[in-house]
Amino acid sequence: MSDCIFCKIIDGDIPANKVYEDEKFLAFHDISPKAKVHVLIIPKKHIPTFMDVQEEDLSLMGELHRVIQDVAKKLDLDEQGFRVVNNCKEHGGQEVFHIHYHLLGGEKLSF
Ligand code: 5GP
Repeated sequence: MSDCIFCKIIDGDIPANKVYEDEKFLAFHDISPKAKVHVLIIPKKHIPTFMDVQEEDLSLMGELHRVIQDVAKKLDLDEQGFRVVNNCKEHGGQEVFHIHYHLLGGEKLSF
């Protein structure tokens, strides 16, 4: 999607501080962190929202679960825990319409 910020990050047109990348997924630090560690994990496939995940995407989204686990381990969040958040559409506070999961941790979250 030409007007999608996260597709531009995937394509390398916008820089990002990457934590993990493979052919299907990308994880990078949020530009405006809400916790000591705040990483966004996305599929490279442009799926706009949580509700746009189709039957054919379920295996990809299962793999994404594993990527989140791997990133949590890489950032040493796995022992003490973390929070995973998806904001869906307007009432969920979604600002970027390319599905993403926020991985928040590195401290006891107070919000
Ligand atoms: P949402 O509100 O859609 O769930 O979250 C979007 C997130 O993307 C926000 O936390 C915001 O700080 C982050 N974000 C927006 N634009 C950029 C960007 O260009 N680079 C990075 N690394 N994060 C971004």
